[in-house]
Amino acid sequence: MKFKVLFTTCIASAFLLACQEPDKTQNEIKIQGQTMGTYYQVTVVGDFKGGEQSLRKLAENTFNMVIDEISTYDENSAISRFNKTKKDQPFYISKYLSDNIELINRESARIGFATDISVGPAVNLWGFGPDKSLKNPTDAQLQEAKAYVGHDKYELRYDKNAKGYLIKHNDNVYLDLSTVGEGMGADALAQKLDELGVHNYLISVAGANRSSGVNAKGKPWRIGIENGNGNGVSQAVCPLSMGMSTAGSYRNYYTDKDGNRLSHIIDPKTLKPITHHTVSVTVIARNATITDTLDTGLLVLGADKAIDFANRNDLAIYTIEVGKDGKFITKHSVAFEKYLNCNAK
Ligand code: FAD
Repeated sequence: MKFKVLFTTCIASAFLLACQEPDKTQNEIKIQGQTMGTYYQVTVVGDFKGGEQSLRKLAENTFNMVIDEISTYDENSAISRFNKTKKDQPFYISKYLSDNIELINRESARIGFATDISVGPAVNLWGFGPDKSLKNPTDAQLQEAKAYVGHDKYELRYDKNAKGYLIKHNDNVYLDLSTVGEGMGADALAQKLDELGVHNYLISVAGANRSSGVNAKGKPWRIGIENGNGNGVSQAVCPLSMGMSTAGSYRNYYTDKDGNRLSHIIDPKTLKPITHHTVSVTVIARNATITDTLDTGLLVLGADKAIDFANRNDLAIYTIEVGKDGKFITKHSVAFEKYLNCNAK
């Protein structure tokens, strides 16, 4: 489970400030529910035609569209049907899916494919896929999987009518878009709300968020990043009509017989869970599919390499490491600075 990014329209430290203001609150509609094996919450400021029921229907239909495209937990999804194809067999996909895979691979390439949606066989070998139980794969099994994991083991191509199709170079290629699904869901719903002329909203699908406009008090949405053990808020930010997501390694893990934590974040180079001390990376960028793609790969790279990449690319990121003394060490890139001082707005 990705971190719960605690989102409120105000947080503990600013709560007193926010609540002393004159009550200029607009009304808002807030819905919550389950999707993609996790939870979602959508808050819309002002009226919404058809009220809560109509907003819930729009949200769940949108999330179900993403599930139908990419869920590895649904054997009839497009990705599950592709995963069952043999090599060299063209598998046509929707424009929605080809556009998203193109975006995901473009962002993954920026970080040397530290995020790699072809890592699915390794995810399953460790027991973090649909069959959830620690499997402790042998080095021989991981070595064998390297023959069909890697962004060069499949292709997204377009035919003469610009229709996209996937094609494998090995029968065992198995794409897993779990790391980006929540961001894709948040973006797909944001697009629907924008098309309906809704300007002020906050969408959260597990740790992936899309905010637009302001909250019911006319202030920027404030989202709290959990600290590296799930207790409390490490930092509050105002992502100002952007996408924001956090990948973490302290919630979803197994403990092996020697007491080592094996997290669900897999290094595509080793096909093993990451072992360094960075436990969380938060990314803010123009949409949640980009942030949800980058956060996992930047977590694979670890805080120092992630901050260096972010500063060289004007990317807003925030990292949390666990120091030798067990205390949390937080760092952020230069571009993240403007999201920190929410009160300045
Ligand atoms: P993140 O922290 O963002 O990424 C970790 C996940 O990404 C891992 O679990 C692995 O799958 C993958 N991953 C790990 N390392 C890498 C890497 N280097 N590059 C790329 N990917 C990597 N769960 C259920 O239990 N039941 C369901 O019915 C269910 N349905 C789902 C439907 C959809 C459409 C999606 C997208 C996911 C679904 N899930 C379901 C999975 C669940 O929602 C989470 O996606 C999963 O547990 C990972 O959570 P996360 O957000 O923390 O992932």
